[in-house]
Amino acid sequence: MTRRVAVIGGGVVGLATAWALEKSGHTCLVFEHGAPGGGQSVGESRIFRHSHDDPRQFDLALQARQDWRDWEEEFGVELISPDGAMVIGDPAVARMEKYADAPGAMFRELEPADVRKALPPLAEFEGRVLIDEAAGAIKTRLTLAILIGSIGLNLVPERVDSVNPRDGGGVDVVTSVGRRTFDAVVVAAGMGTVGLAATAGVELPVLLRAHVRITLPLRSPSPARRLACLQDSSGEFGETRGYGSPVRGNREYAVGLALNVEIDPTSAEDPLSALADRTRKYVERALPGLDSDGSQEMQAWVTELPWGADGLAVWQRGDAFFIAGHNLFKLAPALGKMLARSVDAGTVEPGFLPSDRLGEEASGTPRSASAL
Ligand SMILES: Cc1cc2nc3c(=O)[nH]c(=O)nc-3n(C[C@H](O)[C@H](O)[C@H](O)COP(=O)(O)OP(=O)(O)OC[C@H]3O[C@@H](n4cnc5c(N)ncnc54)[C@H](O)[C@@H]3O)c2cc1C
Repeated sequence: MTRRVAVIGGGVVGLATAWALEKSGHTCLVFEHGAPGGGQSVGESRIFRHSHDDPRQFDLALQARQDWRDWEEEFGVELISPDGAMVIGDPAVARMEKYADAPGAMFRELEPADVRKALPPLAEFEGRVLIDEAAGAIKTRLTLAILIGSIGLNLVPERVDSVNPRDGGGVDVVTSVGRRTFDAVVVAAGMGTVGLAATAGVELPVLLRAHVRITLPLRSPSPARRLACLQDSSGEFGETRGYGSPVRGNREYAVGLALNVEIDPTSAEDPLSALADRTRKYVERALPGLDSDGSQEMQAWVTELPWGADGLAVWQRGDAFFIAGHNLFKLAPALGKMLARSVDAGTVEPGFLPSDRLGEEASGTPRSASAL
């Protein structure tokens, strides 16, 4: 049965959901009050990785990787670079090894000479290194441009003020220009999801955090060169939560510490500047092949759930669905399909309820190893 669905939020999750809904035969409007892709999905490059602390998310990532391949075939472009993702440091290596024999996994150990070939800007590293050959850098802007083009005229540039599920079914959506009624609503509004859920009487335990990432040119750029993504839990270069991913064209590399900070508006301290300085020091030690002249800093908000850095869940009230979590880009095509199926079924797909605590970190896992 064709249903009229509103998706709120034109980030990667909302756009992927709208595309999945359209392909299932539903009609769909996407409400976006800013530039589509200008929220947490902003900026070039995100890491696609299979390795997760929660084995259920390893399976979800396998499914998502296939969904990314399907998009690549459908749109005729490469959306994930073939560079792979390299993990260094015992906690992250141990986490990845859990999945080494799983069907579909393409992990292997790298010899020191191969480490240099996989990521030339990396400093000398003595420890064990694994690479996930089917992982890589997501071409985020291309992905968003393609989805925006596909959703096209269904994008509505209005701010949604409230979402009101009706007792007898359907949902009223009140926007900056008026009220409309839909058969179902999916809220994928990033930072805006908590406030919109509250208008429907749903309380989300989202932690709003700030994040810094720095993009630097390579000292010896060579576009043909392989640049694997990096997940560094080693502590060898002074940090246990370093990450990096190539930017389209492999002339630049984006580096961050998987640390998200709370901002206290009443405090004079500037935790983001401190985190940016710490990231630059990490780059000097870990990635001497990057040139700090010409670096660009990006500050962005992220939304985490309390049970893990990769935590995600979907809440429901009547015919309204609310998704929240962090590190969702890599899973976006699979999440879009799951949300479309949830709309079809009229209920959240099993495994994604808040009580499932998807993405929960195993007890005893050092926080430093999670999300890397
Ligand atoms: C620096 C950085 C690095 C990251 N690295 C990775 C990574 O390596 N791998 C990974 O998988 N993920 C990563 N993430 C996380 C990932 O980018 C996000 O989880 C993902 O982009 C979230 O997409 P979204 O569509 O849920 O939210 P968003 O992109 O935030 O989209 C929500 C949209 O809703 C709109 N909106 C909000 N309120 C309203 C309203 N009331 N009315 C209308 N519109 C509204 C906003 O304008 C926004 O465009 C990273 C994030 C950052 C910031």
